[in-house]
Amino acid sequence: MSRPQQITVLGATGSIGLSTLDVIARHPERYQVFALSGFTRLSELLALCIRHVPQFAVVPEVAAARGLQDDLRAAGLPTRVLVGEEGLCQVASAPEVDAVMAAIVGAAGLRPTLAAVEAGKKILLANKEALVMSGALFMQAVHKSGSVLLPIDSEHNAIFQCMPQDFARGLSAVGVRRILLTASGGPFRQTPMSELAHVSPDQACAHPNWSMGRKISVDSASMMNKGLELIEACWLFDAKPAQVEVVIHPQSVIHSLVDYVDGSVLAQLGNPDMRTPIANALAWPERIDSGVAPLDLFAVARLDFEAPDEERFPCLRLARQAAEAGNSAPAMLNAANEVAVAAFLDARVGYLEIASIIEDVLNLEPVVALEDLDAVFTADAKARILAEQWLSRHGR
Ligand code: NAD
Ligand code: MG
Repeated sequence: MSRPQQITVLGATGSIGLSTLDVIARHPERYQVFALSGFTRLSELLALCIRHVPQFAVVPEVAAARGLQDDLRAAGLPTRVLVGEEGLCQVASAPEVDAVMAAIVGAAGLRPTLAAVEAGKKILLANKEALVMSGALFMQAVHKSGSVLLPIDSEHNAIFQCMPQDFARGLSAVGVRRILLTASGGPFRQTPMSELAHVSPDQACAHPNWSMGRKISVDSASMMNKGLELIEACWLFDAKPAQVEVVIHPQSVIHSLVDYVDGSVLAQLGNPDMRTPIANALAWPERIDSGVAPLDLFAVARLDFEAPDEERFPCLRLARQAAEAGNSAPAMLNAANEVAVAAFLDARVGYLEIASIIEDVLNLEPVVALEDLDAVFTADAKARILAEQWLSRHGR
């Protein structure tokens, strides 16, 4: 058998990072950890290094790097500690690396993920914000380097599995009519509208079906997550926003569907456990055990569907508008959302204000073309400043 594939896990201490390491550990003959990164919870990063013995670990700053390097040496490990974005880009693009799990949350993941793309790595893309921000440039870089881009987001992984292999020829060329993007509806699907102003961060993070990081949990509650996923699907599958329909499916058993012109609708089903899409992307086009229990359809018993209510979920409307406007609009939407969600998690704003902040930011700033990465970061920075100004204007 050939040598094990060398894997870099960016965002190893997070929910996706840990699930990835769980799958990798089940297949030591296939995969070896090349590098791990963490931003906070560095004692957990140390424990992960002891378990997986990577060649490199990456932390945000020098003092933390010194501490971790001392601990690693004391544990007798050869792991070398690198620092910051430069370190992340280095382990994402190192010649020894076969695949990179992009599982940093938010815009912070963009440069390291692009570094992996430009180096032609196999990209396991969880960090949807990176693609949302820089869609056209990101996809150009993928095509230029010949990098294989595999979606980890459960919906996009499901769509990928339901698409014919040659879907890159274009959706109409392969007979696809629509993509049906499923959404659980999150914890507030049925909460009386009058209570939404007062819901807490912990309530927003209590997702009915999935256990995830706090930022994406709030995005799921507001359905901004589905909005970001709509934009993500347009780039991954070269679809127009109008070809992507959002369907609320509270059981989260069908992870998305593809509707063909002959009337066939293909779906991918499974227990809501991210190890399935992670294992699918890691081993693609082969299949490996993920540790996920077989789906018990009798226990599921029924599958429900409903249309999303854009009055309840204004973030979904804002994201669809940004998808249609294209250019800088998705980057601005994403950046304003990151600031608004962080403020909500810090109890500086109420849940309903998340959408108000984003809408005001998008209304204030004209949409411009994004010719290069600098333009992406300029749009991102402008939206962050406008969102911060909103917060100070409202005394937060
Ligand atoms: P998380 O908060 O659990 O983990 C985030 C990881 O990123 C951590 O390792 C953290 O240390 C690191 N990180 C945070 N800020 C950073 C920064 N500024 N610089 C460098 N590293 C930083 O998040 P998660 O739930 O694992 O989600 C990760 C990504 O995967 C997100 O983009 C999310 O949208 C996507 N995703 C997650 C799930 C899920 O089930 N958790 C599903 C689909 C997609
Ligand atoms: Mg998803």
